[in-house]
Amino acid sequence: MCRHLAYLGPPLTLRELLFDPPHSLLRQSWAPRDMRGGGTINADGFGIGWYPGGAGPVRYRRAQPIWSDPTIAELAAVTSAGAVLAAVRSATVGMAIVDTAAAPFAEGRWLFSHNGVVRGWPDSVVPLAAELPVRDLITLDATTDSALLWALVRHRLRAGVGPARAVAETVTSVAAAAPGSRLNMLLTDGHTVVASAAGHALSVRVTPSSVLLVSEPHDDEPGWDEVTEGQLVQATATQVRQRELAAW
Ligand code: GLN
Repeated sequence: MCRHLAYLGPPLTLRELLFDPPHSLLRQSWAPRDMRGGGTINADGFGIGWYPGGAGPVRYRRAQPIWSDPTIAELAAVTSAGAVLAAVRSATVGMAIVDTAAAPFAEGRWLFSHNGVVRGWPDSVVPLAAELPVRDLITLDATTDSALLWALVRHRLRAGVGPARAVAETVTSVAAAAPGSRLNMLLTDGHTVVASAAGHALSVRVTPSSVLLVSEPHDDEPGWDEVTEGQLVQATATQVRQRELAAW
């Protein structure tokens, strides 16, 4: 299962955020601690989305291990942002390994990532997919469960549903259609971040001026809290709210 991360706070270089910590996202790509049986390493691609100077987002996505791309290491050292969403991917068996299957998925200000799997793919979610406009279905980023989940969330956002509810409703409806699915999602517009704990690990670290949501803590320092299964977190850099998924 992929590992993902979202950060809001004072600008950091991508290197400080993703490469330098002792158990960084880079390290989690080849030595994750908590994959819960979903693969062993995250070598099928990676993606980073960030908001340079508050503009953007800009994305860098590749279908190769993050450790094998010297370009991102160079860029990360000189690129700073106060809002970042990043992921390393372990493709579910049978799913495409292409640049566009790597999170984050994007539209306008939004960036999205999914950590997990839709059980019974694709048949289990055909009825949910059928509710989407045909155009959305024929322009999916990739033929993967995560790309469809993004289309379902995006459809709600376009209809004016708020980000927390868009994620909560998508998790709830997919979990009902495909029981046993793992549906940890991250969604941000650079100011607010939403994260679901639905089948996979999720931890949060809050300071007075920042919030960091991660699949796995990236160091052994104090300050990490594990988010309880079934909860959804909505946060800005200075405020964090957490409730049951069904309550949003
Ligand atoms: N199932 C998704 C994919 O194959 C997400 C992968 C993951 O969390 N490992 O892209």
